[in-house]
Amino acid sequence: MSVQDYICTVKSVRYLTPTVFELSFEVTKPFDFKGGQFISVVIPKAGPQGRDLRRAYSIASHSEKRPIELCVKRVEHGPGTAYMSELHPGENFSIYAPYGDFIYKPKHNKRVCFVATGTGVAPFRSMVFSKSFIEQPPISTFCLFGIRDESEIIYKEDFQNKSDIKWIPALSHPSATWTGFKGRVTDYLRAFGSSWLETEYYLCGNGAMIQEVKEILKNHGVTKESMHQEIYYK
Ligand SMILES: Cc1cc2nc3c(=O)[nH]c(=O)nc-3n(C[C@H](O)[C@H](O)[C@H](O)COP(=O)(O)OP(=O)(O)OC[C@H]3O[C@@H](n4cnc5c(N)ncnc54)[C@H](O)[C@@H]3O)c2cc1C
Repeated sequence: MSVQDYICTVKSVRYLTPTVFELSFEVTKPFDFKGGQFISVVIPKAGPQGRDLRRAYSIASHSEKRPIELCVKRVEHGPGTAYMSELHPGENFSIYAPYGDFIYKPKHNKRVCFVATGTGVAPFRSMVFSKSFIEQPPISTFCLFGIRDESEIIYKEDFQNKSDIKWIPALSHPSATWTGFKGRVTDYLRAFGSSWLETEYYLCGNGAMIQEVKEILKNHGVTKESMHQEIYYK
């Protein structure tokens, strides 16, 4: 799958939480990608001297289904998310795609632990829909999803309704009525991590979280070959 440029037409913009929106779009020519890969969106004239900028977004949807879906966190004063959040159905934007090697790699007799913060859950949604995951599933799957509070929960139904996936939201600042895990993903791993050497780890989102998780894994003897990562920002 070589990288090509595509013109995309927005189908819908839907807010999943107060600050995360899902942008769905169609492309004008065949577009192949693997679950977990990302696209590079052209942000017109937002760079120095009016040059175009680029921003990366993981594809959140099934590789064989259309429209394609992204889920984007609005960040303050961010040119990329400002541009994307102002797109309307019927409008066009440009991308280059597909990019990346953060895809599910089936391993015999291994478990999988996905660890995400915020919109870092997007590539895992695409991976669990992928043919390779369905045809060669791990012996068990954990999806550890770190967010601040209940209002930031996204794609619950896609993970929770799969009997073969254990979906664990880790909330750092939940409401008083939250009965699930309270703390960060790293707290969860320290308290409940197990079968360290029988697991492949896929880490996505905030770079500080990824660094901290890798330290924990290293201390339990997990090798670099079993750690896969996609850092969204430092
Ligand atoms: C491979 C890859 C895939 C990515 N996929 C996604 C995705 O699917 N969804 C998504 O929302 N972002 C994703 N990002 C981040 C995205 O590329 C942009 O960095 C982000 O949208 C901010 O761009 P901006 O121009 O609006 O703000 P910028 O001015 O570029 O960034 C401002 C600040 O916002 C913070 N920030 C950036 N991204 C996030 C985030 N996701 N959550 C919280 N704070 C953030 C950082 O502190 C950053 O310094 C991905 C990044 C990479 C490298």
